[in-house]
Amino acid sequence: MTTDTVHALMAALLELLGPERLVTSGPDLAYYGSDRGQGGWEVRPSMIAFPETTSEIQAIVRACAENGVAIVPSGGRTGLAGAATATRGELVLSLSRMSRVLELDRAARTMRCQAGVTIEQVQTAAAAAGLLYPVDYAAKGSAHIAGSVATNAGGVRVVRYGLTRDWIAGLRVVLASSAVLELGGGLVKNNTGYDLRQLFIGSEGTLGIIAEVTVKLCSPPSGTIVALCAVPSDDAVLELFARVRRGRLTVSAFECLDHGCIERVLEHRGSDAAAPFAEPSPHYVLVEVELPEADESEREAARERAQSRLVSLLGEAAEAGEIDDAQFASTDAQARALWALREDIGEALHRHHPHKADVALPIGRVAAFAHDWRRLVSARLPDVEALCFGHVGDGNLHLNLLRPADASHAEFLARCHAYDRELYALVERHAGSVSAEHGIGLLKRDYLHHTRSEPELELMRAIKAAFDPAGLLNPGKIFGERERAP
Ligand code: ZN
Repeated sequence: MTTDTVHALMAALLELLGPERLVTSGPDLAYYGSDRGQGGWEVRPSMIAFPETTSEIQAIVRACAENGVAIVPSGGRTGLAGAATATRGELVLSLSRMSRVLELDRAARTMRCQAGVTIEQVQTAAAAAGLLYPVDYAAKGSAHIAGSVATNAGGVRVVRYGLTRDWIAGLRVVLASSAVLELGGGLVKNNTGYDLRQLFIGSEGTLGIIAEVTVKLCSPPSGTIVALCAVPSDDAVLELFARVRRGRLTVSAFECLDHGCIERVLEHRGSDAAAPFAEPSPHYVLVEVELPEADESEREAARERAQSRLVSLLGEAAEAGEIDDAQFASTDAQARALWALREDIGEALHRHHPHKADVALPIGRVAAFAHDWRRLVSARLPDVEALCFGHVGDGNLHLNLLRPADASHAEFLARCHAYDRELYALVERHAGSVSAEHGIGLLKRDYLHHTRSEPELELMRAIKAAFDPAGLLNPGKIFGERERAP
């Protein structure tokens, strides 16, 4: 890529898109050129293109290929691994103008959407038809459906409903060759060899550009019950999870957060924000239980049964020393307030420039890992505040180190990178994954070998080369120095 080829590409795309849909200078370059990954990477896109149709995506891909300019596909830019950050003069292909819900099929229970429809739009459109798209997370107002497919987003109800991967019926994808693949959508059964659709889920924009997504929908529960528990230790968190799971209830979320997370959320809200319990607790667990589908007339009775079941379970947990206190939400507003303590953590931490790690452990090893992690932090970064929250039901922890007020960003990052090497080796020793739900992007590419074996990496490189032999799509993502793609 040279200045000449970039200029030639700009001229070609100006003709195709017009000046409103091709940004080549100004603050929008940096805005659309990065996501929420805090790796300290230099954000350096050459231009941002805003296609509105699949054929415009194809034309952009063809023009980029002719001029040898690489492409970073970009959705709602809420990703935390830098997969949608442009660092080497790429064209950023933003899907934000492809934001229409195209079709909802009530009989098939599917919905076809353009790439840039937000998760919230998907949920709202499903709800208007009396249905549910159950993948849910705090960034839903901005995150795009295609981006969520490219990163196989998880969220807060994986314990009940699984990951994005479980809810994708079909995809339309533009390949690096500019050919379009239509991968299912209409057929429930289609046993005809390799399922290419699954390859694009979690591919982080390295195999193709997702232009359209058909999601599956389901029946919503008739209601939920939410409780927040004060829990004395990591071990008790796991014991409580096992107890609730044995309890003949449909657990739809089981989230943990430590006291520091609550403190930061309250600080973020301002001086009159109230703590959930009179006494602070080292850990908290938010439990959500779903009520079964029921006729209107039976709902109240079903709610009372489930509520009294949960109350007695938590009573037993208190006797066993697994919880110190608990509160139930008896109205929707109270339930939303308890959920907000969990969902506001990301926003509350953002201004402290957290160094994040999103890791997965076998559930039985979560407490042992958390213990070793705290020891690692106090040995290597004793002056740094370390916070943990996550989806215990999936063995998924979000580990956050907050930058001390007196540390420069560069100094803090350098210390964090030294810590990362030990952290991901620790994850490997506990048979975990270096990324649970955020993906690899730029952030984790040098640690992939802790989770993927050499034969797996070889196959992944071969797949990348088969789909994108020239390295046009999101180069430098997923594959690190050791795992460099051809
Ligand atoms: Zn999460």
